[in-house]
Amino acid sequence: MVEAEDRVKTPFAVVTWFKPEQQVQLTGIESYARLQDELDKLRPSPNLFYAFKVEGTFEYVQTRSVPPQSKPYPPLVEVTDIQPTFEFHDVEGTLAGFWCPSYAGGANMPGYHLHFLREDCTGGGHLLECKLAEGSAAVDITTEFHMYLPENDHFTHVDLGSVEKVDIERAEQQINIYNGAEAWRF
Ligand SMILES: [Zn+2]
Repeated sequence: MVEAEDRVKTPFAVVTWFKPEQQVQLTGIESYARLQDELDKLRPSPNLFYAFKVEGTFEYVQTRSVPPQSKPYPPLVEVTDIQPTFEFHDVEGTLAGFWCPSYAGGANMPGYHLHFLREDCTGGGHLLECKLAEGSAAVDITTEFHMYLPENDHFTHVDLGSVEKVDIERAEQQINIYNGAEAWRF
């Protein structure tokens, strides 16, 4: 593990001060789809933002991550074609992430977006699949959304109109299309 220095920047981040409002115990969650079913029960409305934290013992976790990119930066869908995936078996760890409403599409990805981090911080990534043996899930119902944009020439002039919705969806669902090759995005 390498701890990032304060001067290190990230091109995109979604963050919150997590204040759990409800917590449930989970056992024998066989897949990410089943986990989403359980997290759905903690969402009282499709029109709010939610932060989730799932801690526990995972029988299996599959994640993805991409190496650093350089200028001119390729579209996400091209990066996701060659991204490495990682697998973990019988590990303690934490899932953290968000559920965004459909109207947030374009500024963020609607639906669930979770990242995994092993308890010993030696591995993790963007969650593709998991089996949760036992653990707990906590939710923070979020009624504010603030977006900060970079103030520089590159962002001011880059053609963001070329990013099609179908490309974003393809990048997010690469696991289905490319059988495991996906990209890092958070
Ligand atoms: Zn991600």
